[in-house]
Amino acid sequence: MQAFLPPLRPPGALAEKDFIKRCVRCGQCVTICPHKSIILPSFLGRHRGQPIIDPHKKPCYLCMLCPPSCPTGALDPTLSDLTRVRMGQAYIAKDRCHNYAQTGIMCMTCYDRCPLRGQAVVLAMGLNPHMTTACVGCGICVYVCPVAAVTVVPAHASWIPPFAEQIKPSPRKGEG
Ligand code: SF4
Ligand code: SF4
Ligand code: SF4
Repeated sequence: MQAFLPPLRPPGALAEKDFIKRCVRCGQCVTICPHKSIILPSFLGRHRGQPIIDPHKKPCYLCMLCPPSCPTGALDPTLSDLTRVRMGQAYIAKDRCHNYAQTGIMCMTCYDRCPLRGQAVVLAMGLNPHMTTACVGCGICVYVCPVAAVTVVPAHASWIPPFAEQIKPSPRKGEG
């Protein structure tokens, strides 16, 4: 159920149970993030004070400054290739998306703004966006979609939004 989803963590976060143990709540990642994407929540029970990203407020722009700033390895300090980030997976609710729902508005916003355009988001017939397994879960599409059609499910969660368009395998080089 969605209520038990783990939070969206910054790039390079260890698997959730290891991350919780390793993160010492120092806030180094928060300080270094130039986009103020990372929040240390004062709620979330025992997870209080450990970094999360709320893409509805501010997504991750994949500048890759935070992983090496972590002094404990809760964020993998060797991670520098943004295509290897696995924060989560984006899904589109077809019944909300302008293009699938044929509202008369043609929208390319998630495709245009995705840092992995053509890999993480591809367009079918030049129109309908599909998320693929190359998605890194940065949440930019969530932030920019004008009709709140996109959800990012954090890594390691087993839940998939029931209304979501199924993700596709990432395109091979030269496709998409
Ligand atoms: S990768 Fe950059 S934008 Fe993303 S959370 Fe880390 S410091 Fe912020
Ligand atoms: S599809 Fe969305 S969450 Fe995935 S990489 Fe692109 S902008 Fe980020
Ligand atoms: S930004 Fe939203 S409405 Fe626009 S194409 Fe993407 S999912 Fe559809």
